Amino acid sequence: MPRPARYVRPVAYAALKLRLVKTPGLSAAAPALLAAQRWAGRRLTASPFITILAYHRAADPTAPTEYDEGVVDVTPEAFDRQLEFLDRFCSVISLSDLHAFARDGKKLPPNPVLLTFDDGYKDNHDVVMPLLAKRGQSAVFFVATHYLEARRLFWWDRVNLLLKRSTKERLELAYPEALSLPLRTPAERAASIRAVLRVIKDRFALDLERFLEALAEAADVHLSREDERRRVDDLLMTWDEVRALRKGGMDVASHTSTHRVLQTLPPDRLAEELRTSRATLEDVLGEPVKAISYPVGKPLGRASHIKDAVRDAGYDLGFSNCSGVNHAWSFDPLDARRMPTDADTSDAHFRTVIAVPYLAT
Ligand SMILES: [Zn+2]
Repeated sequence: MPRPARYVRPVAYAALKLRLVKTPGLSAAAPALLAAQRWAGRRLTASPFITILAYHRAADPTAPTEYDEGVVDVTPEAFDRQLEFLDRFCSVISLSDLHAFARDGKKLPPNPVLLTFDDGYKDNHDVVMPLLAKRGQSAVFFVATHYLEARRLFWWDRVNLLLKRSTKERLELAYPEALSLPLRTPAERAASIRAVLRVIKDRFALDLERFLEALAEAADVHLSREDERRRVDDLLMTWDEVRALRKGGMDVASHTSTHRVLQTLPPDRLAEELRTSRATLEDVLGEPVKAISYPVGKPLGRASHIKDAVRDAGYDLGFSNCSGVNHAWSFDPLDARRMPTDADTSDAHFRTVIAVPYLAT
C-alpha cells in the first residue's frame, strides 16, 4: 500500500538505520560505517517505546470467506518473517514482564515488543503458537469468552455471513432505528455490512440479540444451531486449545464476554461483561486473570468510569486497540496502546514501524 509522501523521508531514514544495524560486513569494511552502526544500534536499543502489536488472525487473506475478511492481519509466512526480525533486534516480552514493569517499576529488556492476538480464532492455536514456540517467543491471546463457551459465531462474522448469503436486494430494519440496506452489487453489500457493524459498535445500550435476530429475519438467512456449532468448531478455539496455549508458554487473558464496545454499555452491563469473562477464564485456566483487551478498542482516554469498572472487576492491565504508541515514561496500565497490523504490510514497512512506531499511527 503506498505511503503518504510526508512519510517518505522518515521511512528512508529508518530503513537506512536498520540497514546499518543489520549489515555487519558493511560496517567491518568501513570504520565510519562501524561508528554509524554503533550509533544506530545505541539509538535502537535505547528505545523509549513499549511496542504492542495487535493481531487477530494469521491466515491467507485472499481465501474466499463468508465471514469477516478484515480480521486476517498477516499471512503465516509474513508472521514468521516478522518473528525472525523481532528475534534479532527486539525483546519479545510476556504479560508478566509488563506487569512487573507497570506494577513494580522493573526494567524492561531493550526494544520491548508485546505481541497480542484478539478474539480467539482457531488459527491462533494451530498456526500462531507453533511459529512462536519455534523461536521460544510468546504472545498474549485475548479471548471473547461467551462465543468460545456457547459455540456461537462472533457478531461481526455473523453479520458478514447473513449479508453475504442473503438473496434479497434490500433489507429494511426498524430496530434500533430505520435502516435500509441495499445488497444489489458487491459494493452495496460491503457498504451495508459496514453500516450494520457501525450500529453495533456505536449504539448505546443496543439489544444485540434482538438486532441480530431482526437482521437474520430480514435477510431470510437462518442458521441452525448444529450448522453454527460446526462452523464455530472450524473457526474458533475450544477451551482445550486455549488451555494448550497456556501450557505452551503463551499468555491468555480476557477480551470481555460478548465483545461489546465498553463505551456503549450501561454500568450494570459493563460490570457484567468484565466480571463474567474473567471468571470464565479463571475457571478454564485455573489461575488468576488480570489483563483485558478492549473490544474494537477505542482508547479509554478520559472515560474514567470505564477505568474504574475495569479496576473494580479485578484487572490491572488493559489494552486499547490500534491506538498508537506507548512511551515508557508515560505508560498507562489501563489504557495501553497497541499498533495495528495489516495483511498488506510489507516486511520493509513492518521493520520501519518497529524502529519508528509513530509511522504506524
Ligand atoms: Zn476483538
